[in-house]
Amino acid sequence: MDARNKPRLVVIGNGMAGARAVEEILARGGAEQFTITVFGDEPYGNYNRILLSNVLAGSDDTSEIYLNPLDWYADNGIDLRAGVRAVRLDRFARIVHADDGTALRYDRLIIATGSRSFFPPIEGMWADDKTLLRGVFGFRSLDDCLSMIDESATRTRAVVVGGGLLGLEAARGLQQRGLTVDVVHSPATLMNAQLDDPAGAILRRSVEDLGITVHTGTATTGVRGADGCVTGVTFADGTGVDCDMLVVAAGIRPNVGLARGAGLTVQRAIVVDDHMRTIDDDRVYAVGECAEHRGQVYGLVAPLWEQAVVLADHLTGANPAARYHGSRTATKLKVAGVDVAAMGLKAPERPDDEFVQFSEPRLGIYKTIVIRDDKLVGATLLGDVRKVAFLMQAFDRGLPLPPERVSLLFDLGTPPVEVGAAELSDDAQVCNCNGVSKATLVACVQGGQQSVSGVMAATRAGKGCGSCKSLVTQIVEWAAGGAVADDPAGTWYVPGVPYPKPELMRLIRELELHSVSSVFAALVPDGREDAHSKMGLASLLHMMWGDEFVDEPDARFINDRVHANIQRDGTFSVVPQIQGGVTTADQLRRIADVAERYDVPMIKLTGGQRIDLLGIRKEDLPAVWADLGMPSGYAYGKSFRTVKTCVGSEFCRYGLGDSTALGIALEQRFQGIPGPAKMKLAVTGCPRNCAEALCKDLGVVAIEGGRWEIYVGGAAGAHIRKGDLLATVGTPAEVITLAGRFLQYYRENANWLERTYAWVPRTGIDTIRAVVVDDRDGLAAGLDAAMQKSVDAYREPWTDARQDDSDRYRTALPLIALPRVPVR
Ligand SMILES: Cc1cc2nc3c(=O)[nH]c(=O)nc-3n(C[C@H](O)[C@H](O)[C@H](O)COP(=O)(O)OP(=O)(O)OC[C@H]3O[C@@H](n4cnc5c(N)ncnc54)[C@H](O)[C@@H]3O)c2cc1C
Ligand code: SF4
Repeated sequence: MDARNKPRLVVIGNGMAGARAVEEILARGGAEQFTITVFGDEPYGNYNRILLSNVLAGSDDTSEIYLNPLDWYADNGIDLRAGVRAVRLDRFARIVHADDGTALRYDRLIIATGSRSFFPPIEGMWADDKTLLRGVFGFRSLDDCLSMIDESATRTRAVVVGGGLLGLEAARGLQQRGLTVDVVHSPATLMNAQLDDPAGAILRRSVEDLGITVHTGTATTGVRGADGCVTGVTFADGTGVDCDMLVVAAGIRPNVGLARGAGLTVQRAIVVDDHMRTIDDDRVYAVGECAEHRGQVYGLVAPLWEQAVVLADHLTGANPAARYHGSRTATKLKVAGVDVAAMGLKAPERPDDEFVQFSEPRLGIYKTIVIRDDKLVGATLLGDVRKVAFLMQAFDRGLPLPPERVSLLFDLGTPPVEVGAAELSDDAQVCNCNGVSKATLVACVQGGQQSVSGVMAATRAGKGCGSCKSLVTQIVEWAAGGAVADDPAGTWYVPGVPYPKPELMRLIRELELHSVSSVFAALVPDGREDAHSKMGLASLLHMMWGDEFVDEPDARFINDRVHANIQRDGTFSVVPQIQGGVTTADQLRRIADVAERYDVPMIKLTGGQRIDLLGIRKEDLPAVWADLGMPSGYAYGKSFRTVKTCVGSEFCRYGLGDSTALGIALEQRFQGIPGPAKMKLAVTGCPRNCAEALCKDLGVVAIEGGRWEIYVGGAAGAHIRKGDLLATVGTPAEVITLAGRFLQYYRENANWLERTYAWVPRTGIDTIRAVVVDDRDGLAAGLDAAMQKSVDAYREPWTDARQDDSDRYRTALPLIALPRVPVR
């Protein structure tokens, strides 16, 4: 049909519901039927709003959250007016007026304006009629999120008003950005919409364990400010809390002004029928959070996927009989370290409802299910959400339940997973966050995508709250008949750059890429930066280029940025270098002085024969290092860590070699060199092995005849492995040469985060010995030279940091008593 003759479909709102409705319409041939225009007042394409919590917490990059980027609209012939707000709707003339002065006639209209943050009437919160006091935020849009991230860079103490899902996610996000956070919630129970009182009490403890202060049953009545900036909040009982940032997460309100102004029926939101059509006007539909269906207004994404399907079926005529009957909703809290999933009823309502309850408060575990007429009508999981995928399906699809109800909560006799995947009906929604059905997953596998990560990338399943990942894996395995393909990405060094390590290193060398951003720009097809790949790339580039590596702070983990080890309460631990575990009275005196001066709550001897000063505030770090005047002990990085030594022949009557001197020599040479993972070494003076050299990444044992055995690939952490004998040599100098060559070979060939205990058996000790000791492949000279380059490039990070006048060490830490560090 000629575009001029096609009826015009106008969509107001380019959020999750509006864009999904357009996708569903296109899937039904809507591009042939309609000329489509979308107004979206956010200046972006459509993004996954639920991932804003991850962006705030720093676990997702903004570039990773787009569902429909701007070029998607152009590619599909859609006229997107991004950054343009519809301001008036004239239903009689069928015209939408926009704030850029344009007016557009429509034949069909979809209103998908979503919701906005609700700001309760709290005195002092607004600077004027339209502007919040500086430092006060709602948490709804990408702009809100980016402004919060900006503001948090210079703030130390946040209050979040609202202890629901959104408030807790905001609180954790800000805490992970280094702020002290208080959550203030007026009901007595956190997440009271989803949780009963016992569950709320356990959640409260888990949240407090993270170092977040919780005030429940506390109404915020006032906001204090000075010079136009927030300085604190006041509570109804007259008390209050100081803060320099305030996030209001006290609920949402549907955006219904346009509809109301146009005379559409609005109650709690725009009232729609079972076709998602407004009850006043057959040409106008509403979908998402701005729609009210049978008295229900939803504030979650799962319902809007179902609504968009029905709307598209009806609007395009693909299935004029399609009807929306309402949705069952489930929620999952996206706060790392606190697992909460809740669906349906939180308690029994009828006398014959079955209620199964398990509580182990000491471990933070609480689980309940409510069953009615042999169907799951409610479940709450706290602390252990392993059964969430099955429960969500049972709740959503009314699956048959096992007669032993307890097996719904624990792995005792729940239907085997294969049966679960096979039994699900094709239209069963597996990923609620992105609205992906079992049929879509199966079609993707049948379309040739046979790896789990490939299916997840192609369908977006599992990319939201993550609770469905195990079910997605089961369905892919089932659909592929067990022939799940090896993941091509499995061979890549880091997930965001499509090359295995040797090829990646060759390209980096050939193209002379010295920084992480230049690697993304040159080697990733669309140049997209992947947050999860940055650290691995920084380590590789540092290893390859030494002092020619261009360090970009945003490519480093917090520990590497501030050269200290972040603790669970946000303070840092500082470990000065004590080479080979040998110290002096002067060093001990300085450590003691610093511990007193900075009120260090705990001093601890480490397993690596060093002294750990725990509980240091970030802003004190430069002064602590200056006062210590000792080099860094590298207790934090993916790098060479330490050489543990025994007393050896100098003092021990059994000693066969001077293990202490050799340990110190090794530590002096390899201090701070970066690697794919941490590297722990030890030297021991005789086979009695007091320094436990056989379970180190590289361990050296003195034996009879003045000789030394070198073991590699040992471990004694979560994984236990005795090292393999690499070589027996005659002098400490040979030990140092072979140790350097081995470490360099490992650095060049291991995957990111692959410890030697995994890499050595994967590569084979015979191969390693052939390369490192016998120089079978003629690589030895190159390995030695590359290691020498790294050794020469070494700079003591604390000295550099002491001279750093950037705001990297700004005050940004919780000033709370350490909850987990006993002070004796
Ligand atoms: C931080 C956060 C975390 C969340 N986590 C979860 C979760 O874990 N699970 C879950 O199920 N849900 C979650 N949600 C809720 C979920 O994001 C919403 O349910 C969903 O986005 C609703 O989609 P919608 O299209 O109705 O509204 P929106 O996504 O808000 O889209 C509406 C769009 O319309 C635009 N608009 C409004 N008025 C106009 C106008 N006059 N002209 C032009 N454009 C206009 C708005 O700017 C917006 O872009 C979360 C929400 C937030 C903010
Ligand atoms: S390993 Fe041997 S040399 Fe070292 S302390 Fe123990 S007994 Fe003495």
